[in-house]
Amino acid sequence: MDDQRVTIIGGGPVGAAFACALAEQKISSRIIDRTPLGFFLSDENSDCRAIALSPSSKNFLHHLGIWESIKPTVCSIDQVKTVHGPTNTTVRFDPSASDPLGYIIPLSLLRQKIAQRVKTFADRIEWVEGTLGSLEKQGPFITVHLNDGRFFKSSILVGADGKGSFVRKLGAFETIEHPYGKDAIVCTYEHKNNHENIAWEIFREDGPLALLPMTHNRSSLVWSVDHTIAESLREASDEDFDQILSHELSPYLEQSKRVSPRWIYPLSLQFVDHSAKEGIFLIGDAAHVIHPLAGQGVNLGLRDAATLAEVLIEGAQVGLLLSDSTICQKYERWRRFDVFSMILATDGLEALFSNHNPLIKKMRDIGLKMVDRNKGLKRLLSKSAMGTLGNLPRALKEKVS
Ligand SMILES: Cc1cc2nc3c(=O)[nH]c(=O)nc-3n(C[C@H](O)[C@H](O)[C@H](O)COP(=O)(O)OP(=O)(O)OC[C@H]3O[C@@H](n4cnc5c(N)ncnc54)[C@H](O)[C@@H]3O)c2cc1C
Repeated sequence: MDDQRVTIIGGGPVGAAFACALAEQKISSRIIDRTPLGFFLSDENSDCRAIALSPSSKNFLHHLGIWESIKPTVCSIDQVKTVHGPTNTTVRFDPSASDPLGYIIPLSLLRQKIAQRVKTFADRIEWVEGTLGSLEKQGPFITVHLNDGRFFKSSILVGADGKGSFVRKLGAFETIEHPYGKDAIVCTYEHKNNHENIAWEIFREDGPLALLPMTHNRSSLVWSVDHTIAESLREASDEDFDQILSHELSPYLEQSKRVSPRWIYPLSLQFVDHSAKEGIFLIGDAAHVIHPLAGQGVNLGLRDAATLAEVLIEGAQVGLLLSDSTICQKYERWRRFDVFSMILATDGLEALFSNHNPLIKKMRDIGLKMVDRNKGLKRLLSKSAMGTLGNLPRALKEKVS
């Protein structure tokens, strides 16, 4: 039995959802995470980030039996307004007749709901609290050694261990990294006026600012600024911080109050040359980290998870070993276009809007006006953000209301 098992390092939203997708199809797995499952289940699991789940992620979570428990906690996005700060050029994205553009949920709640589902699969998902120390390949098997001396053998190893992935390092995956020299300031605001389920994407001179509508008339603010500004905001007292933000962001935060601590995340672009080799697969942030301006990191990771589960399940059905090279190649080929187009889109937008050349600024403005007037192009951009473009794994296509 051991040789058919899958070892997953990392039980964040992507690794845990992947284990559930395998468990649905009766494939057992072992998640190794340095954090106990009980922590993700508890309310101590706090993280100020709010996640914009795309409609295709909703379909996947529904397929895994998680969406029903998530549904009461999300706020749908009924409209996205993209504003070019200095000129106030606005592009408005409206939902299709049937689907909102996305759903906002606190990351801590998303983790908790997925962890609850993991718990119901106790016969198929083993959660091991421990930290990966090293790995060793022995014929068709991979053995992972934990820092406390325990070791586990399996057919394949899946690195879902986030941005600083140790699996990626031990597996010698070539990694391309570009720090943006910017940090994201994240906090939650409560509005006096109704936010009307509008998400704002504001391209300011100092960096993009997103306001994501949440339940209870709150919005999550994600503001990317130069590292030095972020550092001074980190050092500022609560009073100074609030004063600076309400002055700087007054058009968007009018009559609103900060109701959460402030969190600061360093931003970088990171991706790998290959996302699978010799029975080792990378999914989620372990494989790619993108700028959060489009709110797509978890969505991209959930698409990795659904795709890898589908190719493994199909491979097992036709009698292939899970580590078979055709499975590795199929996963990698299938994910390549989606991942790289999202990297190009987010990195390109970041570069385009942080460029202060007057000619580029003018072209940006003309471009945005053109997008706003072109319904076909707007539909294409919406579909890309909604994760409904291209060849999707089955679990992402099953539409739910
Ligand atoms: C400011 C900000 C805003 C964002 N907003 C959005 C958004 O709106 N929408 C969106 O889709 N995405 C968003 N993202 C991206 C999103 O947060 C990430 O893509 C996502 O959390 C990655 O999930 P993951 O499961 O791949 O990794 P993680 O959540 O990082 O999980 C990794 C897990 O691996 C474990 N681990 C790590 N190393 C080891 C080890 N050696 N041994 C054992 N366990 C280990 C950790 O304990 C952890 O549980 C945002 C990111 C930022 C910074």
